[in-house]
Order: sequence, then C-alpha cells, then structure tokens
Amino acid sequence: MEKGLLFVISGPAGTGKGTVIKHLLETGEFFYSVSATTRAPRPGEEHGVNYYFISREDFEAGIAAGDMLEHAEYVGNLYGTPKSAVEDALAEGKNVILEIETKGALQIREKMPQAILILILAPDIQTLEARLSGRGTESADIVAKRMSEARREVTLLDKYDYVVINDDGKSEKAAQDIRTIAEAEKMRAFRNAHLKQKFI
Ligand code: 5GP
Repeated sequence: MEKGLLFVISGPAGTGKGTVIKHLLETGEFFYSVSATTRAPRPGEEHGVNYYFISREDFEAGIAAGDMLEHAEYVGNLYGTPKSAVEDALAEGKNVILEIETKGALQIREKMPQAILILILAPDIQTLEARLSGRGTESADIVAKRMSEARREVTLLDKYDYVVINDDGKSEKAAQDIRTIAEAEKMRAFRNAHLKQKFI
C-alpha cells in the first residue's frame, strides 16, 4: 500500500512558519498533526485545533503510556506529537505535516529516517526579532528566551534536508517552495522502487 510522506517543519519563533503552514493547509494537500502542549492557550487558540492543551500530569502520563511519537521541553513547557493520529494518516497515504521544534525533529529523524526535515528561516536575525516582539502576545522575558532558543535552533541547520526562507510578505512563496519539495520527494528513486516490477 502506498504510504504518505512525513514532513517535519521547524522554524525558530518569529519565522512566520504558522502562516506558511496555513497556506499549505488551505488546499487540503496535507494532514496537519495537532500537538499536545502544557502551555496556556493564547487568545483565539482552540483546544483540538491549534493544540491539545493538557496538564503536565496528563502529558507525562501520555509519555509513560508510549502515546507520543516525540516530545520536548521548550521555554518551560512540554510539547509533543500524539502518535496514533500520525500513524493512521500515513497508513491512509496522507502527507502529514508536523510543526515541531528542533529537538523533536531530531527524534523523528532517528525513529523515521524517511521523514523530510524542512527548516523555515526569516531572512535575517533583525527580521526575526522584529516579528517576535511585534507579536505582542508574550512578555519581554519570554521573547528574550525565544530569541536565545532561535539562535540555538539555527545552529542545527545541517541536520535538516531543506531550508526555506520566509521573506516579509512572501509567505505564499515559502509555501510554494514546500510544495515543490513535496513534488520532488515523491519522485525520489527509493520511494519508487516498486516501479522496477513493471519493467521486468
Ligand atoms: P508555540 O508555543 O509558539 O506555539 O510553539 C513553541 C515551539 O514548540 C515551536 O517551535 C513549535 O514548533 C514547537 N512545537 C509545537 N508542537 C510541538 C510538538 O508536538 N513537538 C515538539 N517537539 N515541538 C512542538
């Protein structure tokens, strides 16, 4: 049975990856894996849509039960990918997007080597900082912690398969770049080994 592709998309806070992913989801080409987190919802965020907002106790119980494909602590909160939804979608042949930070992405690389790792970046650090402090949803302290996390995350660039730049006002272009990656990945020889049978 043909299986879907797993796209792991990371990007430091302020790269605008949420907007890029929103474009990708508008066309129904991808299945978005909703993560679990212990972080409090931001205004407008909905349980089951943006995240499953759960207690630390429930999160840790989920890890112990083996329900998380990966998980990581990020700026004081736990974030993780519920395993069954992703496995079911892939088995149904859907192309799945995980929007997760770098520690989680590297866990996925270990467990599922065929996953495609994409790092979204802002054009430069000044743009990143301007976007992050302009969001206005976090305190100065949290913004500073997210900036230092961003610097650390960019150092892991070499671990990714692709880098996509999300320039100001060009999020549609970044989404298109990811569609191009998806098209090329479908044509990778190792994903098409079954075609040999047809020519024997
Ligand atoms: P935010 O609090 O801004 O929504 O997310 C903070 C960071 O957590 C982002 O880098 C986001 O990609 C990451 N994140 C969201 N869901 C998951 C997840 O399921 N696993 C991991 N490892 N990181 C996640």
